[in-house]
Amino acid sequence: MSTPADDSPEERAAEAADLSPSEAFALLGNETRIDILQGLQDATADRPESAAVSFSELYEQVDVDDSAHFNYHLKQLLDHFVRKDEDGYRFRTPGRKVVRSVFAGTFTGRTEVGPFAAPGDCYHCEGDLRARYADERLVVECDDCGRTHVDYPFPPGGFDDRTPEEFLDAFHHHVRHHYCLAADGVCPECMGRMETTLDTETEVPDWTVAVVHACERCDNRLTSTLGLNLLDTAAVLTFFSDRGVDLTTRPFWTNDWCVSDRHTTVLSTDPTRVRLDLPCDGDRLSVTVDETFSLLETTVELADETS
Ligand SMILES: [Zn+2]
Ligand SMILES: [Zn+2]
Repeated sequence: MSTPADDSPEERAAEAADLSPSEAFALLGNETRIDILQGLQDATADRPESAAVSFSELYEQVDVDDSAHFNYHLKQLLDHFVRKDEDGYRFRTPGRKVVRSVFAGTFTGRTEVGPFAAPGDCYHCEGDLRARYADERLVVECDDCGRTHVDYPFPPGGFDDRTPEEFLDAFHHHVRHHYCLAADGVCPECMGRMETTLDTETEVPDWTVAVVHACERCDNRLTSTLGLNLLDTAAVLTFFSDRGVDLTTRPFWTNDWCVSDRHTTVLSTDPTRVRLDLPCDGDRLSVTVDETFSLLETTVELADETS
């Protein structure tokens, strides 16, 4: 009988449920075990994800003299991180994730990059934008007035094999997807349930209203403009694509309505009603939302109607 390449959804759910974070850290708090996971990754690097690695192959990958010692630590990984069958050893999903995180530099990275030029102009003073990377966060800011346009975490693995331009493109997709998930009620960190509210008394400088997504499960909190959360909204995508602008690929911070709230009007606070007016090509799309960021109304005003 052949073994499925990946764990079944039931198995994955069981693994996740069985292992608390402190147990996971205890299991992985050992250099030999991390070496074994990396050895398994190296041994399968040029093969399909489903390929199995024999005991002797895996043993050769790990710098350890004593096979009993090796065997002991390998066994500790078997329940949650590594699977064994008649063909040999393979990753379970959490094992692969651990290795990817380590290689992505999430736990180990100390990368600093930049500043380097970023596309777009400052919404405030039209100065050039620059990007810099430190402490695993990417910041896009104005070279002239210093205003921050974006400040968001990004794993340093994103720099591997990428030019600064390609890195910024990857960062754009990363942030856009995170806010699309959050706006759909899914925490991008832990996949838990997120609650979305509009904060009309925000303390973010220069802003009168902010969207706040909060995850009850992992405490993740994301604060942003309204616009950043509309990048996956059908009416908005269509309005812009009809005018030749593809919001899925255009760096979001080059839209002033994604990084400032200058196009935002608070219509009322009881109940909360906020309108965002998105300009493109002389036309305007107005989007009205309620206190949970649910879309109430969209209207398009054409340039020849207003003149
Ligand atoms: Zn500026
Ligand atoms: Zn969460």
